[in-house]
Amino acid sequence: MNDSAIDADPTMRWTRDADLRARTSLRVAARAAWLAEVRDAAALPAVLADPRIAGGELLMLGGGSNLLFAADLAGVALAIRDEAIAVVDDDGEAVRVRAGAGRGWHDFVLQTLSLGLSGLENLSLIPGTVGAAPIQNIGAYGVELDQRVHAVEAWDREAGAPVRLAAADCGFAYRDSRFKREPGRWIVTAVEFTLTRRPRLVLGYAGIGAELAAMGIDAPTAAQVSEAVCRIRRRKLPDPALLANAGSFFKNPILPVAQADALLAAHPALPCFDAGRPGLRKLSAAWLIDAAGWKGHRDGDAGVAPGHALVLVNHGDASGAELLALARRIADSVQARFGVALEPEPRIVGACW
Ligand SMILES: Cc1cc2nc3c(=O)[nH]c(=O)nc-3n(C[C@H](O)[C@H](O)[C@H](O)COP(=O)(O)OP(=O)(O)OC[C@H]3O[C@@H](n4cnc5c(N)ncnc54)[C@H](O)[C@@H]3O)c2cc1C
Repeated sequence: MNDSAIDADPTMRWTRDADLRARTSLRVAARAAWLAEVRDAAALPAVLADPRIAGGELLMLGGGSNLLFAADLAGVALAIRDEAIAVVDDDGEAVRVRAGAGRGWHDFVLQTLSLGLSGLENLSLIPGTVGAAPIQNIGAYGVELDQRVHAVEAWDREAGAPVRLAAADCGFAYRDSRFKREPGRWIVTAVEFTLTRRPRLVLGYAGIGAELAAMGIDAPTAAQVSEAVCRIRRRKLPDPALLANAGSFFKNPILPVAQADALLAAHPALPCFDAGRPGLRKLSAAWLIDAAGWKGHRDGDAGVAPGHALVLVNHGDASGAELLALARRIADSVQARFGVALEPEPRIVGACW
């Protein structure tokens, strides 16, 4: 068989010894024994019964913007290409929109805005696909995905059947979900969102108001909020096309109030946020890493972004193992200096944290 084998079946495509480097935003060298691409959920029973998947490791692959390959994948990387968008319910104000897992996230956000629908504007310009968005419950600028999800359609590999999970059954939490906690079980095939024609804009977070003021806008539309978020993000975050990265590499740590207050007493400048749960506070991982002296640090081609302490970058040929080693050194130094454990946000393939 050739290196790249395209089956006659137009609903699925198999590639042997697939090069994944260009398929991840950290652009580390990595290969998968097989890459399977399916057109939509209807092809899943056949592809999952294939011996190349049935017996081995399966990794879902979206846009690769939250994955760090520390080693090659001995099994199969599976991507769903379904990009369909449909309005499934509309009561004149609330509108339910369903999107296939393979749709680009930011493109989907723009499509909803062009339909006059509000709800996802604060989540503009997050890289990746619709199907991956529920995995870590993406969030930005005061909005988290679970606030807008109506249901998630998935293939349950344990039951061997398609399921439809209401948002309340997805176990969503800060950068977490049951999909993330049960890796290997779920294949998200589509997500249904509840959006609205009557915007309730979320403007109170991280410079959105100031950006809108600088744009000369005092009564913004949802599309203008999206534009303001895009402008802030383009200024603040390195573009993966120019400097390879996976966005925030660490989650903001969530600590019991007593521990957080003791840290705040010793370090009054440490930003502290509502954790959304009583008795807990969320601290800025970026501040802790910056204070530990890592911003702009470089070990060969593995580094920390000069402008953002939370973003690990690949300046060229860093391996996944080198980036992981740097991440561990950063976490160890934050633990030693502040007594706080940092947890990585991206999925690490081929190594344990
Ligand atoms: C510059 C930059 C900025 C970012 N900013 C943010 C931000 O503001 N907020 C935020 O929350 N995240 C952010 N991220 C992280 C990332 O964009 C999100 O986590 C995104 O949802 C990942 O989508 P993806 O398609 O690239 O997923 P991938 O990286 O391909 O996969 C991520 C995880 O989801 C799993 N997965 C993918 N598709 C499916 C599926 N169909 N079914 C089941 N599992 C699946 C994978 O196996 C893996 O575990 C940023 C990343 C970058 C590079």
